[in-house]
Order: sequence, then structure tokens, then C-alpha cells
Amino acid sequence: MSEPQLTDFDVLVNGAGLVGSCCALLLARSGIHVAILDKGPPAEEANLDPIRVSALNHASQNILEHLCVWRDLAWDKSTAFERIEVWDALSHGTISFDAATAGLSHLGHIVANNSLCTALHQALGHCAEAVVRFGEHPVDVESSDSCITVTLAGGEKLRAGLLIGADGAHSKVRQLAGIAHDQSSYNHTAIVATVTPEKPHGACARQRFLPTGPLAFLPLAENQCSIVWSARTTEAERVLSLNDSAFATELAQAFDQRLGKIKAVSERKAFALTRRHVSAYIGERIALIGDAAHTVHPLAGLGANQGLADAAALAEVTNDALSKNRDIGTRSVLRRYERWRRGENALVLQVMDGFHALFGSEDLAISRLRGMGLKLTDQTPVLKNALMQHAIGLAGDIPRLARP
Ligand SMILES: Cc1cc2nc3c(=O)[nH]c(=O)nc-3n(C[C@H](O)[C@H](O)[C@H](O)COP(=O)(O)OP(=O)(O)OC[C@H]3O[C@@H](n4cnc5c(N)ncnc54)[C@H](O)[C@@H]3O)c2cc1C
Repeated sequence: MSEPQLTDFDVLVNGAGLVGSCCALLLARSGIHVAILDKGPPAEEANLDPIRVSALNHASQNILEHLCVWRDLAWDKSTAFERIEVWDALSHGTISFDAATAGLSHLGHIVANNSLCTALHQALGHCAEAVVRFGEHPVDVESSDSCITVTLAGGEKLRAGLLIGADGAHSKVRQLAGIAHDQSSYNHTAIVATVTPEKPHGACARQRFLPTGPLAFLPLAENQCSIVWSARTTEAERVLSLNDSAFATELAQAFDQRLGKIKAVSERKAFALTRRHVSAYIGERIALIGDAAHTVHPLAGLGANQGLADAAALAEVTNDALSKNRDIGTRSVLRRYERWRRGENALVLQVMDGFHALFGSEDLAISRLRGMGLKLTDQTPVLKNALMQHAIGLAGDIPRLARP
């Protein structure tokens, strides 16, 4: 029997979602020989959900502009938002952020996930240093002092200095590396759909905190909105079972009629929301990024932004190591990535836990406190500005490529 074929790369990336593709492109554009694997087909063939969108902050935009893929996104649906309005159904406390008062043209963009993946896959396809292989997945990994060998389902072996697990919430790389993770349910299901409201959205991203969970209306082109309606699972199941017209009526009511009636509703998709955080971001010649390392409640629209920042941080650490002729897969190199991103992501998860608990409470005293807190923050420019810097992704220790 002939020996399985063995191919060498500098880096292997498992998972060609938006985070893995971004990381692979960052590495390949700096001259690193990368192979990216995905068990599914490419985004443009996968008929990916057109209703899945991400609110991308300035940091993510900067990374994607650096890669020259920002201009290639499908702008027929995606759009910028200039204001954020958040209010609490019980206390009526409100806070709002305005790009113009901060001297910015926008606070972020709502981008269709499939358009972002397609643009990244096309850019990878044009990059001489990148090999993209769809329909492939690893079944085994073996690390040594000098390399990591990945065995694919068909028996082929690929060898590299570093394996990056970017294969999402149920990461196979994480499992093969034996990296444990904390996991707990938020007891919320998010309903996602595209809707057309009666009134103009005015390029404003809005969120109303209901006792059952937050409801966001994210502005899209042609006065459509992407909604993310997170609710306790039993309530979400009830709402999902409504016909389109009853759903539209309940949706408009749940949103306080802020955008009037809902004129049209697309298909609806449901996502069970789970909090996950890995015990280690790195293993033997392995690093985890994006949802493979952490998943968070979408109430602040941060998951993809955190993942893109992981990708940029890991690419920066890898490039710095190579410029000093260091082995990119060693623990001492990868520890820098872990120390950097674990702290930032843990903070996001903790803050979201706090919001989830605070806004999920129907206790009158807590509800009053919430209302006062929102009002006070709204009237305190220093606090508000600090929050805004976080919202646009330009606070904390951000990777070089994510900076303006
Ligand atoms: C309802 C909802 C709304 C959200 N809204 C926002 C938002 O507004 N802003 C924001 O920043 N984030 C948001 N998020 C989070 C965001 O969607 C995720 O954090 C992001 O998509 C994660 O990207 P990823 O590339 O890490 O993982 P994924 O998108 O899951 O990609 C993983 C890739 O790995 C591949 N794969 C899986 N298993 C294997 C395997 N064994 N071998 C090879 N390949 C494999 C998959 O095919 C896929 O292509 C939201 C999440 C939800 C649920």
C-alpha cells in the first residue's frame, strides 16, 4: 500500500468562516504559505443564509480595509449606521449614541455574513500564498517539536508549523487538541429575520430591552431592517409558531411601534444562545480563534468583531515572531496571543453576563436602577464617550491592523 501524500505549509487554518478566512488572508498577504480547510462548500455556492448579518465596528472595518475586501462587499444590502438607540421597556430609561457628536461619519456597518465570506474567499483565491480546500476536514492531529501533522478524512496528511482552529462553536480542532471549555445556556433563543418597517429607520441601530429579552432592529439598505429578537426559549417558540401577519403585529408591538407597522417579513431563523469560553486559547502548535474560542450573547453584536480581532492579533503575533526568525508554533510565541486575547474576550463575556442579568430582571428596584443608570450614563459625556469607544471597537489593546 502506498504512503499517504504529505504536503507542507507554514500554517493550516481549519474553518473558512469569516474569522478563519480573514486570518488566512492576513497571513497569506504577508507571505506566509497557508492552507485553509472547510468541511462545507464555498460561501458563494453554499447558498448561505442571506438573512444572517453582523454589526461590524470600526476595528473590523479597518482590518477588512487593510485586506482590500471591504470595497468588495455586496453593498446592495449592507449599510452604515450613524446612531444607536437603546431603551428599557420597564423603566423607560434610554441611552443614545450619535456618530456626528463624536466627529465620526458612522458608528458601524451592518454587513451580510455571506457577502463578507464570499469577498474573503475570492481574495484568498487570488492570493498565491493561499491554498483553499472546501469539503475537507481533519480527523486527527499529531504535534511534534518541529511541526503539526493533520490527517484529513480521506487519509491525506498536511504538515505545518501551526494549526489554527477557526471552525466555529463546535470546533473539531478544539476537540482534537483536548482543550476544555465552559459552556452554559443563556436560556434565550434568537429569532433572526429581515423586515420592512413602515417608518424610515434613519440609519439608526435600535434595541429595546424587554423583560423576556432584547429586540434589535439593525438598519439595512432600502429601508429594510435585520431583526434579532432574543427571548426566553418558550416565548421564542411561541413567537416562531405565529403566521407572518401575527408575527409582524407582535413584532411591531414588542418594538413599541417605534418604526410603525411591519409591512413585510422574510423567513425566520432561530438560534439557541450559548455562552462558551475555552480554558486555553492554545495547545501544542495550535491556536483557537473566533467562535472556536468563545461565543457570547448577540445583544451587543460583538461575536464576529471579537473573532476578527483574534484573527488580526494572531496574525500580528505570527508576523512578529517570523521577523525575529522564531518558530511560530512554539508555546512562548503563542502565549503572547493567548494573554492578549483571553483577557479582552473574558471582559466582553463578563460585561454581557452583567447586561443579561440586569436587563433580564423584572424586579421593580432593579428596573428603577436600570432606568437611572441609563439616564445618568446618557447625561455623562465622559462615560458615554468611553462606552462609545468600546462600541466602535477602538478601546483596549487593539491589534495594529484594527487601528485607524
Ligand atoms: C443571532 C446572532 C446574531 C449575531 N449578530 C452579530 C453581530 O451583529 N455582530 C457580531 O460581531 N457578531 C454577531 N454574532 C456572532 C457571529 O455570528 C459569530 O461570532 C461569527 O459568525 C463567528 O465566526 P467564525 O468564523 O468564528 O465561526 P463560523 O461562522 O461558525 O465559521 C466556522 C467555519 O468552520 C467550518 N467548520 C465547522 N466545523 C468544521 C470542521 N470540523 N472542519 C472544517 N471546517 C469546519 C464551518 O463550515 C464554517 O465555515 C451573532 C450571532 C448570532 C447567533
